[in-house]
Order: sequence, then C-alpha cells, then structure tokens
Amino acid sequence: MKDPREKLRKFVDVVARLYDSFGEEEAPIKLMKKVKGRSPFHALITTMLSVRSKDEMTHRVAAELLSKAPTPQALCAMPLEEIERILRPLGFYRQKARNVKEAACRIANEYGGRVPDTLDELLKFRGVGRKVANIVLYNAFGKPAVGVDTHVFRIITERWRLLPDAKRPEDVERFLMESLPKDMWGEVNRYLVAFGQAICKPQNPRCDVCPLRQKCPYPGRPTHPSPLQ
Ligand code: SF4
Repeated sequence: MKDPREKLRKFVDVVARLYDSFGEEEAPIKLMKKVKGRSPFHALITTMLSVRSKDEMTHRVAAELLSKAPTPQALCAMPLEEIERILRPLGFYRQKARNVKEAACRIANEYGGRVPDTLDELLKFRGVGRKVANIVLYNAFGKPAVGVDTHVFRIITERWRLLPDAKRPEDVERFLMESLPKDMWGEVNRYLVAFGQAICKPQNPRCDVCPLRQKCPYPGRPTHPSPLQ
C-alpha cells in the first residue's frame, strides 16, 4: 500500500484545486473565509459560535452580534438576555451566549483587550477547544495550525482510510501536521470542509459526481466511471 502521507498529499492537492469550483451555497465554509483578516476578537467570537452550527447561520448571527458589540468591552457590557436573543437561531445558544460574554469580559479585564495568540492561552476560555483555538490561531494571527472538525475527521479516517484507527481529532491533527508542509496547515481545514460539504457529505456522499472516486477506498462508492473524468 502507498505511504498514507504521500497519498494524503496527492489527495489534498486535488481537493485544494476543487475548492475554487465550489460556490458559497454548496460549501458554506467559504463564507467563513471572510473572517480572515478581521480582528482577532471577531475571529474568536465567530469561530466559537460556529461549533455545531451551520456556517451560513453562524456567519449571519455573528455579523449581527459583532455589529452591535464590536469590541471585548462592548460585548462584556451587553446584557446576557440580549446576547441570547441574537444567538437564538444557533444550536446551544444559551451556552454560547454565556461563553462569548465570559470570553469578552476576560479579554477586556485580564488580557488588556487583546485576544491571546497561543494555543495554551486560548484553551483556557470556556467554549474553546483545540479546533476553535487552531482555527483562530491561523485566521487571526496567521500561525500554522490545523483545525480538525467532523468533516476533516470523517474524510481522513472513514472515507479515505488514511488513518483508520484514529480515535481522537488530535490523532488526525498530528497526522496532517506531520504529512503536510507548514504553509498548508491552515488551509487544509477549509479545503476538506468544503469538500465534505459539497461532495463527500456525512450522510449521502455524492460518489457519482466525485472526481476522486476511482481512487477512493470507501466501500459505499459506486464503481462506474465519474462523468467528471
Ligand atoms: S468517492 Fe465518495 S466517499 Fe470517496 S471521496 Fe468521493 S464522495 Fe467521498
């Protein structure tokens, strides 16, 4: 069998090229790219809200919240009930409201109004796990970091069987970091999530239109040639 790292690099090359062909409707992760280049506070709050929520809804709700409370001080001062009202369309909105308010207050009071730029410090905020922290490190600070969410985990372990025995997102994170050049670490999340949203979907993967089908080991894929090849 081919070295899984080499196989991964070839796979990521194809998925990176496909990324540009997806529209925002079929791959809503592309909306989140607009977070890049915004303030670290904007990136942190948007990414915290994105957990277990659809990207298109996250984008809309985060824009409303951050237009009313664009700074840590303003969000800290906003009544919890008002934050909950804005976040209501998102899953776990009460918990998220508490978490973003608490994060804003801590940034304002303990960090001099600046979002910390290290994994260890970001992980101290309630509602921030490794995935959120790594995405913020890349999007807000341009640091090489790999965010592993359910799309990334599913595609690498179950669909492409590159790391079939992985149990935790950290296993996939390490595999991606060891296999890909540093300048790919940040973008690989976006490429794989877009591919997972548009083609290699969680429930019904669109194997019939997938350009990678001939090489894919996933047993559910059809065997006739792809119309895209
Ligand atoms: S062939 Fe199917 S399972 Fe394999 S990568 Fe493409 S969509 Fe996913």
